[in-house]
Amino acid sequence: MRILLAEDEPRVAEAIKRSLETNGFRVDLRPDSQQALKAAASAKYDLIILDRMLPGPYDGLSIAKTLREDNVNTPILMLTALGEVSDKVDGLTGGADDYMVKPFSIKELNARVNVLLRRPKLTVGTTLKVGNLELDTHSFAVKRAGKTINLSAREFRLLNYLMYNKDEILSKDKIISHVWDADAIILPNTVEVYIGYLRKKIDKAFPSEPPLIHTVFGFGYRIGE
Ligand code: CA
Repeated sequence: MRILLAEDEPRVAEAIKRSLETNGFRVDLRPDSQQALKAAASAKYDLIILDRMLPGPYDGLSIAKTLREDNVNTPILMLTALGEVSDKVDGLTGGADDYMVKPFSIKELNARVNVLLRRPKLTVGTTLKVGNLELDTHSFAVKRAGKTINLSAREFRLLNYLMYNKDEILSKDKIISHVWDADAIILPNTVEVYIGYLRKKIDKAFPSEPPLIHTVFGFGYRIGE
């Protein structure tokens, strides 16, 4: 399996490349948009991981669009630093099959890659479940016991990360590195504050249901039944 990786941030590109290679993929890195489009158009890849913002004449969206217009149907996983819902929707309608918002966990990237390679023609919908709590990573819908829960973008990202790692104890440092941008200034109690917001909406708002967000004193947090 051969993957084209179009990503210009050396740190991110290296981490992705190393991980995919460890999992047995052959990875060609093209940090420039012109080179990326040229390589992608050759249609010899099983998957294209495409950063939305690339140096050179094109951006990720226009590359995806051009490929689809030229009937190159290689699955595309779009990487974006922009957290806005409208940007994500653009990424999907622009020809990408899936997208991830930076920063993401390499574990999640690998999972998405595997899903895309297994189901190349389908748009991927991912529902994460913990007890009767459900999170749809595409429609951004969060429900508990069938009732819709409204979350801010940051709360959604935090919950997504917790649910993706269901039953695992996650340290505050780990949570910060996956949920906040690398250059964000995080106060020590920021994670606590956001966990508090989530608790209120997910557990306290459902007093007849068992709590799902657990504090593991001295270690961090865990979501699970
Ligand atoms: Ca970039």
